[in-house]
Amino acid sequence: MIAASVSRAASGCTTERVDVALVGAGFAGLYLLYRLRKDGFTTVALEEADDVGGTWYWNRYPGARCDIQTIDYCYTFDPELESAWKWSEKYATQPEILRYLGFVADRYDLRRDIRFCTKVKRATWDQASERWLLTTDNDAAVSCRYYIMATGCLSSPKPPEIDGVKDFEGEVYFTGRWPHEEVKFAGKRVAVIGTGSSGIQAIPLIAEQAAQLTVLQRTPNFALPAHNGPAPADRVALLEGDRAGYREQARWSGAGVPLQLQTVFSWQLSAAERLERFENAWAAGDLFCMLRQLWADQGVDVDGNALVAELLRDKICATVKDPEIAASLIPYDHPFGAKRPCLDTNYYATFNRPNVTLVNLRQEPIKSIMASGIKTDKRTFDVDVIVFATGFDAMTGAIMAVHPIKGRGGKSLSDVWANGPQTYLGLTVTGFPNLFMITGPGSPSVLSNMVVSIEQHVDWAVNLLIAMREAGFTTFEATKTAQDGWIRHMADCSTLTLHRLANTWYTGANVPGKAQGVMPYTGGVGPYRGICDEVVSRGMLGFRLAGPNVAEQCNDGEIVRLQPDVRLVLKKLEEMKLAPIESLGAQGARDFVAELNADRPAGRPVGDVADGTLPGTDGPLPYRLYRPATPGPHPIVVYFHGGGWVLGDQHSDDPYCRDMCRRSGMIFVSIGYRHAPEYRFPTAAEDGYAATRWIAEHAAELGGRPGSVVVAGWSAGGNIAAVTCQLARDRGGPHIAGQLLVCPVTDCTFDRPSYNDNATGYFLTRSLMFWFWDLYCSPADRTDPRVSPLRGKLAGLPPAFVVTCEFDPLRDEGIAYADALAAAGVPVEQLKARGHIHTSFTMVDVVITGVSGRVQMAEALRRLAGLPPERKQVDASVRPARTASPRKIAAAAD
Ligand code: FAD
Ligand code: NAP
Repeated sequence: MIAASVSRAASGCTTERVDVALVGAGFAGLYLLYRLRKDGFTTVALEEADDVGGTWYWNRYPGARCDIQTIDYCYTFDPELESAWKWSEKYATQPEILRYLGFVADRYDLRRDIRFCTKVKRATWDQASERWLLTTDNDAAVSCRYYIMATGCLSSPKPPEIDGVKDFEGEVYFTGRWPHEEVKFAGKRVAVIGTGSSGIQAIPLIAEQAAQLTVLQRTPNFALPAHNGPAPADRVALLEGDRAGYREQARWSGAGVPLQLQTVFSWQLSAAERLERFENAWAAGDLFCMLRQLWADQGVDVDGNALVAELLRDKICATVKDPEIAASLIPYDHPFGAKRPCLDTNYYATFNRPNVTLVNLRQEPIKSIMASGIKTDKRTFDVDVIVFATGFDAMTGAIMAVHPIKGRGGKSLSDVWANGPQTYLGLTVTGFPNLFMITGPGSPSVLSNMVVSIEQHVDWAVNLLIAMREAGFTTFEATKTAQDGWIRHMADCSTLTLHRLANTWYTGANVPGKAQGVMPYTGGVGPYRGICDEVVSRGMLGFRLAGPNVAEQCNDGEIVRLQPDVRLVLKKLEEMKLAPIESLGAQGARDFVAELNADRPAGRPVGDVADGTLPGTDGPLPYRLYRPATPGPHPIVVYFHGGGWVLGDQHSDDPYCRDMCRRSGMIFVSIGYRHAPEYRFPTAAEDGYAATRWIAEHAAELGGRPGSVVVAGWSAGGNIAAVTCQLARDRGGPHIAGQLLVCPVTDCTFDRPSYNDNATGYFLTRSLMFWFWDLYCSPADRTDPRVSPLRGKLAGLPPAFVVTCEFDPLRDEGIAYADALAAAGVPVEQLKARGHIHTSFTMVDVVITGVSGRVQMAEALRRLAGLPPERKQVDASVRPARTASPRKIAAAAD
């Protein structure tokens, strides 16, 4: 059991002993205190400020408001609290949010356990007593079993990093440390440095008062109007109609706000339809509507994103009268949403005022601050007041400001995090037992409605402490395996969104010298919650739990080994409780696949799509041809679809063919070869060969480059492609320049490890493969190289690019084929796709993490066809600025 004795800082004793010490009295600290006390833990909260509120205590600058609608940005743990408080506006002001947090503190009598005006300076884990010792700036230390940092993601203001601030003789303010008394700007010359959300909120109001306002902007930001007012009636009706359901939906949503995900892609909409959606979102005045609800590809694909960004740029141009100023205000250096966009009230229109000057620091950087004002490369601005809206050392700043935090063996957290934060779930750190960080780096935190994320973290942490108490455990610590796995998962997730493409405080780029990398979890609030729950349901996976009178428990392992989106796809399929495909019969299975395909995202546009037939050995075979939009002639890829020789047709891998055609700049011809059980072995192989020969001979008629073709195929189609290469070599042509084999079937044995490791649970199952084999090929024929190409002669085959997926029964036979080709002297490249399943690469626009694999496949196809590498990858960087742009601003922070 956990000792629950408290000896308050009584006379002569300066160390207070509690079960749990928590730091911070913002949204997180207050809820923690409420929960810990309710669940019987002795607790003290330590807070630097002299009252509760956190963010809303410190950020009192004019215009400060939330940017998530207040009906969502509030506690949800107590329905009675919800009915006891009424918000006055759609986006509440800072004073109102501060009043709310004061109201919460009073309602649950929280202040009596908060030590205000107490800054925690150091924290040390004592292994012998298994307790943390916290030292503070007022000499009252705290000894605690558990130490919880609720210190905030945006609570450590960033120093201005400009020479001469101390020389300035006027008034200086920081938005993140705004004074309690009113600041008067009337009649004064004011400079604001910084145009993030804080600057963008403050600038219009300061402009209304000041005699002259100079805005010094280093990087322009996207901003959209808040259209503040009463909370929208439709949202209120939704909430009030089913409060519990509404809140639950938020908890499982992408960003902590209950909005439906968009499923329509930008290329499925006309320009007029896109504009209509954009205008509706603009009128709604809601960040998440604009960030997530226009079209499905806006947050994951640079092309889809560029369409939104262009429309936002048009709005800036339409509002700001002076085209020079408008040009300076338009962002070009980052995708929309990759940097936190701002909600504004009259921001752009403020630059039409005669008393406002915009200084573009990209053209004239600040040299220094002097006694009388600010000096740039080109000019001097004499001012009476400087407002620094220069932001925060975000996510890690407040944690690292407690220095040192010494964990097991005296290791300092700042050393462990020297190359960037490393956590398990964004909540705990290996080597630092009994330490929690609420909304720490590695959790959704700032990419979400933070109150939802705070409540989830607090509940999870306190529930763990309760469970430990019941089981007799007194220490917990994340294992290295679990933490390393989480870091890898974080990296995988970061490829899902465009945040990695911007230099922002999300990545640490705003603080000179800070290690860089996307710090918040980009996999979404709901999936994250599911993962945290799974850690618990799998016996505290990745945690070592110990106690004085119980055996140590450690279920070591990684919580997510699949790619994040693959995991979601599999979860969805699991929920659908589908009958095994092999139980449906051939026609039933075909109908099922057709049904699944009808629901998938439509493939992207290419130059031209044409259906036709070609002569096969026993009659015509249908094909579908995909031609790039670029001028031809293009090299031709003869493509064989997947489906175990039983399912699919020339259309069934349509999104994949379009995507590869677009990325490789090559013609794809997808062949409708005949299927088992109607046509058994070797029909598919012979059809594949016949089609390849005919296409090679008629390349010019198809608009292709004559001479040779490349063959490609996925799954059983990969088998046909591999076999076709062997037949072409042995039958005197056609000339095949290369082969792309994606998760190919290459051999008839089922005893390689991947067949057992991945026998079930990853869509393609071992028993489905048995069924496919049985329908296509009798046991006596299975060693024939026309179905088991691994058993054929491999020398003299065309160069190959072989793709295998970690969680695929066919993984090992794909690798075996690649290795055998290489051993036979065939040039081979392999892509072993970590965390992917058999269907990952053909689920285009569903499995976003498959993009990089398809990029590599497209590059390989170009190499095989003898084309130069493409100058620019479709997804690799932000689109060029529109031609009308007078200047393009460099991405990096100074
Ligand atoms: P905080 O509110 O930052 O509280 C942390 C507390 O810990 C502070 O009071 C600090 O003084 C204290 N502390 C830190 N270190 C120590 C120490 N060593 N010793 C003692 N005390 C310490 N998020 C949204 O989701 N929606 C919004 O609309 C939104 N608007 C925002 C507007 C602004 C201006 C800012 C800056 C942030 C905004 N955020 C918003 C993010 C906001 O920080 C969170 O929503 C939320 O308020 C964080 O609560 P918290 O308790 O985790 O941290
Ligand atoms: P921020 O987004 O980091 O913006 C800081 C601004 O200061 C940037 O424009 C930055 O330019 C500039 N800057 C920093 N150092 C500078 C220097 N040395 N010289 C010149 N310019 C410099 O910080 P923030 O505006 O305080 O916002 C931080 C986050 O808090 C927001 O993203 C949001 O999540 C939250 N917030 C929310 C609201 C709201 O609407 N509810 C309001 C305020 C804050 P560069 O971009 O070039 O670095």
